[in-house]
Amino acid sequence: MSDKIERVKTLIIGSGPAGYTAAIYAARADLKPVMYTGMEPGGQLTTTTEVDNFPGYPDGIDGPTMMVQLQQQAERFGTEVRIGMITAVEFSKVPGGIHKVIADGEKEIEAETVIISTGASAKYLNIPSEQRLRGGGVSACAVCDGFFYKGQDVAIVGAGDTAAEEASYLANICNKVTMLVRRDEMRASKAMQHRVNSLKNIEVRYNTEVDEVLGDQVVEGLRMVNNKTGEKDEIAITGLFIAIGHKPNTDIFKGQLDMDETGYLITKGKSTKTNLPGVFASGDAQDKEYRQAVTAAGSGCMAALDAERYLAEIGSVEETVAGQYKI
Ligand SMILES: Cc1cc2nc3c(=O)[nH]c(=O)nc-3n(C[C@H](O)[C@H](O)[C@H](O)COP(=O)(O)OP(=O)(O)OC[C@H]3O[C@@H](n4cnc5c(N)ncnc54)[C@H](O)[C@@H]3O)c2cc1C
Repeated sequence: MSDKIERVKTLIIGSGPAGYTAAIYAARADLKPVMYTGMEPGGQLTTTTEVDNFPGYPDGIDGPTMMVQLQQQAERFGTEVRIGMITAVEFSKVPGGIHKVIADGEKEIEAETVIISTGASAKYLNIPSEQRLRGGGVSACAVCDGFFYKGQDVAIVGAGDTAAEEASYLANICNKVTMLVRRDEMRASKAMQHRVNSLKNIEVRYNTEVDEVLGDQVVEGLRMVNNKTGEKDEIAITGLFIAIGHKPNTDIFKGQLDMDETGYLITKGKSTKTNLPGVFASGDAQDKEYRQAVTAAGSGCMAALDAERYLAEIGSVEETVAGQYKI
């Protein structure tokens, strides 16, 4: 541990759309935010080429550029962005208490407020051809990328409610959707299964797994294997969607913050407040429902406003902010 312990007003953990939006608002409210970017500076959008649905970009924008611009906007107002990981936390349980945070396993920071925006990671199959073609036709987000495959043949892997919903979404846009289900039945609810089965352009293949994604630079086809018979079969597709779940990046908060059985942080009512005073959660880490950049950004804004109001309430923020919010 270093000898000198740093004290910050607002610590932001994570540098996706939620973290940067929280940083913009917190910096403009003079909370002097310090942000730790984590292992993926810029977050999930740095893994995608085209973002077409974020408001304000009429011609679309590539994910990495958008995230650099968000960083520049946050820094313009004084956010200190640090490349590093938060590796441990010891949150205070009392209003006005100081939260202890360890960065990169050694640096101790004391924070008056903490905004968590650590996101969620999409699960992949982790076979080499899938990893190679990520961003070249392999995607983990049908709502984000389905539009690019309008009128084309695609496939989706997964058997739960999200997979069924994404398959139905794709069926409205694409020519044909082949759905690969590993077992001999879907895990999705009966209602969702009914929806999938009622759509004529979805073909469900049970006991079927991906053997290899075909294509050099972009997806051109899929080789599937029947896990009962071992039989292999190929289809021509241009897009492959992986819908086998997400894992929220919340392990370091276990035992301190309330979370659901899959690890999504639980916030109070319409706010970003967690069960502990001065600790706020935003973005995909607390949202298994929408998981979009714009919703993450919206909740990042809310987290900064919640932090600002909390600081005003406990008497840490001087006249500038205290006058604005009468709590
Ligand atoms: C392939 C793909 C394409 C997508 N396309 C679109 C699209 O077109 N439009 C759209 O709206 N949405 C899209 N999404 C969804 C969108 O990317 C997410 O909803 C959004 O990025 C969530 O933002 P976030 O800030 O909550 O978290 P994330 O973007 O997941 O960022 C999390 C951040 O937390 C950091 N972090 C994690 N743990 C720690 C730690 N211990 N210490 C410090 N930092 C930590 C990470 O390094 C990262 O910077 C796409 C997602 C994927 C995977």
